[in-house]
Amino acid sequence: MDHPTTSKRPIYLNGEWNDQGPALQVINPSTGEVFASVSTVDRAGTRQAIADAEASWKGWRNLTGKERGAYLHAIADGIEKRADEIGRTISQENGKPLAQGLGEVGMTVDHFRWFAEEARRAYGRVIPHQMEGKRHLAIRQSVGVVGAIAPWNFPLVLAVRKVAPALAAGCPVLLKPASATPLSSVLLAEAVHEAGLPKGVFQLLVGNAREIGAEMMENPACRKITFTGSTEVGRELIRQSADQVKKLSMELGGHAPLIIFEDANLDNAVEGALITKFRNGGQSCIASNRIYVQRGIYEKFLAKFVEKAKAMKIGDGLEDGVDIGPLIDSAAVDTAIAHIEAAIASGARILCGGKRADGLGPSFLQATVLADVSEDTLCMKEETFAPVAPVSVFDQEDEVIQRANDTDYGLAAYVFTENLNRAWRVAEALEAGTVGVNDAVPSTSQCPFGGMKQSGLGRELGSEGLDGFLETKHISFGGMG
Ligand code: NAP
Repeated sequence: MDHPTTSKRPIYLNGEWNDQGPALQVINPSTGEVFASVSTVDRAGTRQAIADAEASWKGWRNLTGKERGAYLHAIADGIEKRADEIGRTISQENGKPLAQGLGEVGMTVDHFRWFAEEARRAYGRVIPHQMEGKRHLAIRQSVGVVGAIAPWNFPLVLAVRKVAPALAAGCPVLLKPASATPLSSVLLAEAVHEAGLPKGVFQLLVGNAREIGAEMMENPACRKITFTGSTEVGRELIRQSADQVKKLSMELGGHAPLIIFEDANLDNAVEGALITKFRNGGQSCIASNRIYVQRGIYEKFLAKFVEKAKAMKIGDGLEDGVDIGPLIDSAAVDTAIAHIEAAIASGARILCGGKRADGLGPSFLQATVLADVSEDTLCMKEETFAPVAPVSVFDQEDEVIQRANDTDYGLAAYVFTENLNRAWRVAEALEAGTVGVNDAVPSTSQCPFGGMKQSGLGRELGSEGLDGFLETKHISFGGMG
């Protein structure tokens, strides 16, 4: 690469590598050690980046969708070429098992390719007139400079769900990754640089979230904010957006129910519960947080599920065969243990786990299964964001739908049943942006993703993924013959 090869990794501003700012240290949660650092930018630097992005807007939006798509394909090629290195970096900064880091890279490439193709399909409409001599069109145009704020749990792919559609739609984009996981975004910036994007069109801003966020919110040249993270910070940004009526997309917290009916294929349901609960150590917005099992198969499910949970290997994400890495930090383990203790105090049975994993660092938690968990305990109300599976029994379909929907969140839900009518009925009744029916991994580039209720505003991915980056303009022609 042609950026400085200091141990402090540079950020990427207006087409150039910049390592002038104070260093942000990056900790590997498996070892607790600093393994890299990244340069940062302050509020004034953010202001300059927004100005540079705005200057690049006209040139970028005036390219054809096909031309912008070619750049996106070139970025995808660059990421694909370095997939192993990027997957490893994700594992080091986030802690997840390497195979999951590599999976994230694969999905990232697919997102870029999807939006490279969607760039050609930002269709408008010809609208029938109702008055002689008139003709109407609705066209779609890029919204302008986008501030994209991303979380640490899927540091690359969730950033790209914003960056790729923004670029495809003709918007310059400023990416602010989470401070815990900025390195995969540096590698993304390298792929962008190699792809030869015009300067200012993509920039990487690492640094203090409040400073960068405040400038994005208060600077009128930044027309749109797309945020993925906690509902708490999302609410704060929604409040801040009011002054300028800033356009927003919000991907916020989740609290997914997973419902297993007596007529389910039990082995598939157990597998589904394992994947939705323990992938990424449970640190996923679509992780199953509440597992509801119908009475007739309750104990049988628990026996199979606990056997598999106990067999999961916990360790450094880069070690062979590891299923669950560390949580992002030791404080996250403390929160999870508080949730476990509260559940036990309110009558839950602990079937496995519940403690820090022996012989590993302070950020590792055992895979934990709780049974007979009551609805009013903490882990049934809040995101646990850890490998903690609370299981609860139910009797009737109506009852479980009511319990599943009794939350302010509405991001994802899962149902396991072999009864087609029930699958349809329950999927329609669940208040969630995504419902997996006998499917633990529903998310894919070509389908819309996002939350109902307090889980968010707008949709990412799918053909809807461009919508948040486009304005609709009505053009009316008078005096037509
Ligand atoms: P977070 O604390 O809300 O942080 C998310 C991002 O926002 C980070 O880049 C963070 O920067 C930044 N940020 C924090 N305070 C800010 C402020 N005042 N102004 C502007 N930016 C600010 O969330 P997280 O802990 O990283 O992520 C976990 C949460 O994200 C969970 O609730 C999870 O469910 C949710 N999530 C949702 C989705 C979805 O698609 N709906 C996907 C994944 C995760 P710093 O890191 O520098 O603080």
